[in-house]
Amino acid sequence: MQTTTSILKDTFGYDFFRPLQQEVIENILARRDTLAVMPTGGGKSLCYQIPSLMFEGLTVVISPLISLMKDQVEQLRAFGVPSVFLNSSLSPQEYQENMDYVKRGEVKLLYVAPETLLTPRILALLSSLKVDLITIDEAHCISEWGHDFRPEYRQIVEVRKKFPEAVCMALTATATSRVRQDIRHTLKFPTTNEFVASFNRENLFIEVLPKQEPNRQVLEIIDRHKDQSGIIYCFSRKQVDELSAFLSVKGYSIRPYHAGLNDAERRRNQELFIRDDVQIIVATVAFGMGINKPNVRFVIHYDLPKSIEGYYQEIGRAGRDGLPAQCTLLYSYADVAKLNYFIDQKEGDEKRVAIEHLNAIVRFAEDERNCRRKPLLNYFGEAYSAENCSNCDNCNSAPTPLTDITIPAQKFLSCVKRADEKFGAGHIVDILLGSKNEKVLRWEHEKLSTYGIGKEWDRKQWMHLARQLLSLGYLKQDGEFYTLSLTVKALESLRKREPIFGVMQEAMERVKNDGKKKEEELEYHRGLFAILRQKRKELADEAGVPPYVIFPDRTLIEMAAYFPQSQDSLLAISGVGQVKARQYGEAFLRVIQDFSGKHGLSERKKEARRDKSDAGRRYVLIGELYNGGETVPGLMDRYKVTNATILDHLTRFVLAGNELRKGNDLETLTTATPDQKQAVFKVFDEVGTAMLKPVFDRLDGALSYDDLKVLRLMYQVLGRGDVGK
Ligand code: ADP
Ligand code: ZN
Repeated sequence: MQTTTSILKDTFGYDFFRPLQQEVIENILARRDTLAVMPTGGGKSLCYQIPSLMFEGLTVVISPLISLMKDQVEQLRAFGVPSVFLNSSLSPQEYQENMDYVKRGEVKLLYVAPETLLTPRILALLSSLKVDLITIDEAHCISEWGHDFRPEYRQIVEVRKKFPEAVCMALTATATSRVRQDIRHTLKFPTTNEFVASFNRENLFIEVLPKQEPNRQVLEIIDRHKDQSGIIYCFSRKQVDELSAFLSVKGYSIRPYHAGLNDAERRRNQELFIRDDVQIIVATVAFGMGINKPNVRFVIHYDLPKSIEGYYQEIGRAGRDGLPAQCTLLYSYADVAKLNYFIDQKEGDEKRVAIEHLNAIVRFAEDERNCRRKPLLNYFGEAYSAENCSNCDNCNSAPTPLTDITIPAQKFLSCVKRADEKFGAGHIVDILLGSKNEKVLRWEHEKLSTYGIGKEWDRKQWMHLARQLLSLGYLKQDGEFYTLSLTVKALESLRKREPIFGVMQEAMERVKNDGKKKEEELEYHRGLFAILRQKRKELADEAGVPPYVIFPDRTLIEMAAYFPQSQDSLLAISGVGQVKARQYGEAFLRVIQDFSGKHGLSERKKEARRDKSDAGRRYVLIGELYNGGETVPGLMDRYKVTNATILDHLTRFVLAGNELRKGNDLETLTTATPDQKQAVFKVFDEVGTAMLKPVFDRLDGALSYDDLKVLRLMYQVLGRGDVGK
């Protein structure tokens, strides 16, 4: 007897369910009509695909996105699941063939466009069959309150009535409660069968950078993601064309996408991107609907988006495979002014709504203190209560100690002044570094007294300083060319020789590491990974499908980490099911064997990995291991996570009412002096242990958050005060 878990592993090759997948599937198997709301990349498809394999009859999937149907069917066939689609893109002959497959009961899943479903021909076909499950994808299209209402979706309700035996599932990634209510009401679903997954996408690193020299900033990000797929969103077609030209000249593999290109061109560029033939798409917001590419590693917003809703949807296209991805918004006040200009041409309600949207995104972009996830999730009606998400710029930079940056700041400011306040940061840095480039020589800036006085720092460090001086209000930036000039504050400070405090250089480095951190939890061989990718591309081109249909990146990464040498070990790799192992196993094994032979590598055993779906219980496991004598460093090593993460788990363990072993190993994890300890405990006595920020502030940042976490745990273990207040 097949279980949901055995199908997950044997057919799809995955070890764990994503959040809510299992609950939704069980509910459908119990034949209860179900509404599931999950973010993009949450794994909605498996919610009906697994039941479809357990039901005897047919599963019908209604979807308005014609381009996605083909993609889904290709992926399913690669997993060995017989499925077809019916929509207007097929030739009459293909259409008939697919109908025949369905009629003969040879397929488990039928994808169909709503208008196709409503034709008498299809309705007659379906009435002659046993239909077990009707899935309505993009179910928000039913609601007039949604952003994408489609009248033909209303008629689906009538069709559903014709199949009272079938269980019905509605899926969407749009979360407002109004729309949810509408869907339930229209389809007559009971409230109890609604599942709403968190919209938090933990794997996305979210950051906002001041837009200084956007082209150079874009290059920095692209260079950090060599050979990885990315999307760059621009405000206008003109901007898309300019940036595309700039990147093409630099030799990057890119294609533009906007409404000014003809259909064929747009389709071709999108296809090249999906098939990994092109690395980067530079696009307006027209790009992205109906794109299923799971391995987009970065999304850059070159210009300010118009609303949080749009922004979240756009960054949501990154990291659908669950691996880390970077989302960078380049923010400048000039963009706000530009959007305001467009808003001014609107009137009435439309204008009011546009202003509200813009204000919300500006508040988000300008907030330098709070976790980025909070406003985003709040916007979708979800409370986000974690103290530190450790995957956004603000959470990662809060505890950074300030240092005296007076000297470099003076150098920079006086260089801006000497150059007559007519240039952007990049040129100022060129002068400080003593560059002999054309622009420096043309303006005779090699003759300035500040020429070449900044060689002790590299370009990145200087650019970072420039951003700080802007945000600290010493510099202002204007016009099309982001020209820098000194503020009154800067002039005062130079005159009085006041000290300036800021962050020394690391910010950039930290961001760099954080963007990658999680991927490197699993150490893998980059060389082998590159060869495996090539193999995948070859097989994909032969089969005429996108590379991710063969295997997702995660699978290749695991292959390059464990070097499996046999079919059996291959099946232990995430994403390798029975059918794919048979079909592609040999080809990949040959590559791995060949490579390991040449480099003297042998197979590594794949330990049962504790995955996200298990994370809910992980703290118990960690607590028990600790009580069993395992040390914090030992646990860090075992789970390949940081000190702070282990401490968070142990804290949760204690808060859940468990006792923790009283050892002195916590003592060794902090550098706090006895006096500091007492001071911290005293603050805990006063304000409770729920938040660390008040403690951090009270001690003027003398102890790091890591230290505070250790002390909090000690405080709780010792049983002082009101735990978990
Ligand atoms: P959605 O439709 O919700 O946007 P998909 O169903 O397309 O998301 O899933 C996104 C990606 O995640 C796909 O590549 C899919 O194969 C993968 N995926 C889904 N469920 C799991 C799982 N339990 N474990 C690993 N990968 C999964
Ligand atoms: Zn955060």
